Amino acid sequence: MTAHDWNGRLVPFPADRAAAYRASGEWSGLPTTARLHESALRHADRIALITAEGTYTYRELDERTDRIAAGLTWMGLRRLDPVIFQVTNRAATVLAWYGVLKAGLIPVATLSQHRMHEIGHISEKVDAVAHLVEAGLSFDLVDFAREVGKGHSSLRYVLSIEAPEVEPGVHRIEDLGADIDLAEARALVETIEADADPEDIAVFQLSGGTTGVPKVIPRIHAEYWNNGVFYARAFGWNEQTRVAHLLPIIHNAGISCALHAAHAVGATLVLATPDPVAAFKLMARSDATDVLIGHGHYQAAHSAGFDPVLRTVRRTVLSGAKVPAELFRKLDDSSSHSRWAGQMFGMSEGMFIVTPQDAPASARADTVGLPIAPSDEIRILDPSSEEELPAGAVGELCCRGPYTIPGYFGAPEHNTNAFTSDGFYRTGDLAALHEFGSRRYVAIEGRIKDLINRGGEKVNAEEIELLLLRHPDIAAAAVVAMPDDRLGEKACAYLVPESTAELTMAAVQEHLNALGVAKFKWPERLVWVPALPRTNVGKVNKNSLRADIVERLEAETLEGAHS
Ligand code: AMP
Repeated sequence: MTAHDWNGRLVPFPADRAAAYRASGEWSGLPTTARLHESALRHADRIALITAEGTYTYRELDERTDRIAAGLTWMGLRRLDPVIFQVTNRAATVLAWYGVLKAGLIPVATLSQHRMHEIGHISEKVDAVAHLVEAGLSFDLVDFAREVGKGHSSLRYVLSIEAPEVEPGVHRIEDLGADIDLAEARALVETIEADADPEDIAVFQLSGGTTGVPKVIPRIHAEYWNNGVFYARAFGWNEQTRVAHLLPIIHNAGISCALHAAHAVGATLVLATPDPVAAFKLMARSDATDVLIGHGHYQAAHSAGFDPVLRTVRRTVLSGAKVPAELFRKLDDSSSHSRWAGQMFGMSEGMFIVTPQDAPASARADTVGLPIAPSDEIRILDPSSEEELPAGAVGELCCRGPYTIPGYFGAPEHNTNAFTSDGFYRTGDLAALHEFGSRRYVAIEGRIKDLINRGGEKVNAEEIELLLLRHPDIAAAAVVAMPDDRLGEKACAYLVPESTAELTMAAVQEHLNALGVAKFKWPERLVWVPALPRTNVGKVNKNSLRADIVERLEAETLEGAHS
């Protein structure tokens, strides 16, 4: 069977590279869920998942998700039908994820915070067939899914998790396949898997790092589970490992570095929620050994609340922003070898760079490490050309490898700029290579892409500027990152009024709400100016705006200290 090419919207890997990845074993010939099943058979009675609501063994997880897959198929969903996911860190999310994959469907990894602006666009882009939402959140996602369905003819099913009761037209994942014979469900899953091509799309992830609206990232079966395998290997995980995750599990980092990575090696996933108090309690209770801490949790990890966790956590991986030296020292006790801290740099497009276990302390503290797959390739290029820069020089980090996409889905024009002529993905991040021993470690030095990294959620500046400009009272808009102690960065909008009237924050929020824009993207500060500063080539001078907001914040802090 050959992979479905989605009318040319899926960019295939070049044949020579695909052949090399197959030959090296970095690509798998099996679909993602066949790999899960293999692992489940090997580790049947081990604990696969711990959440605040309960635990599942590998056997329970495997059997339950076989039945969900059968239930989805019986409902009428067919192989390669995309299913939008808007859910949080719940056991039912994991069940839904594997159940959907086993039915041969494609999870579309959107966020529970996304609204019509995002979901409408993505649903159309991938021709989504079903919409899975979590009930019981402060915003009624079940109602929202019905609303989305009205405007999208391809969307035929609403699925839910956590719904307390059956509602007309909504299929509860928890009920699916409960009365289907287990052997029959397994046979059905195996039939679906037999039809799959390794180069078929397994999952659609979303890009945070591009221009305009979010781009869709197609991850394929050949590489997706193995991405998790490489990650688990990089940290030496095994059946004794208990991996805690607090960030949204649906992010690519959640799936690849926690869910799939843990389940590839028989480890336990301790699935917590972003609330640090609840998360640290669950971690302490579950004897977590490993955790990934995003920069939105750096402060919490530094607080005393994290101390009970350190009784069992052996490895802390920090990611998302420069690691404060003091935090690193707290989490890394190399003298007694009881605690190890390292870093991770990664992206939904693929490439993961992590600290090797045997890296010297300075490399662990100051660099993000080395790529995780043998065939991963990185280059530091001049941002305005394809010229490679000498070791030590800061340039654009570009990468290529077995699990890094060769192109966004259905975005041919964008792809010509986002990839080099020989297929390296231009990350938009600035990096330099530093030598420690015989290895060249990657240090992240900033970025050239125009986004705000709000505690790990990426906000695209251009996307918000265009939305702000749709207000009749805004003549010009420039959105920049402003530093924030807790989240790392927040969005600040510099606005030029159309007339003399300056809108209030509430009016701007109302405008973005009416456009259905996810709240985490709304600017959290407005600065009204008579005109935007320009560079000598006439572009908005964002560097001067970034410097301006830092100055304003510093002046306010000083004022606060003196008042
Ligand atoms: P996403 O695809 O949402 O995971 O975002 C990927 C982007 O997050 C990267 O291209 C970087 O801009 C940023 N990022 C990820 N890890 C790090 C890190 N350790 N340090 C700095 N930025 C990071």
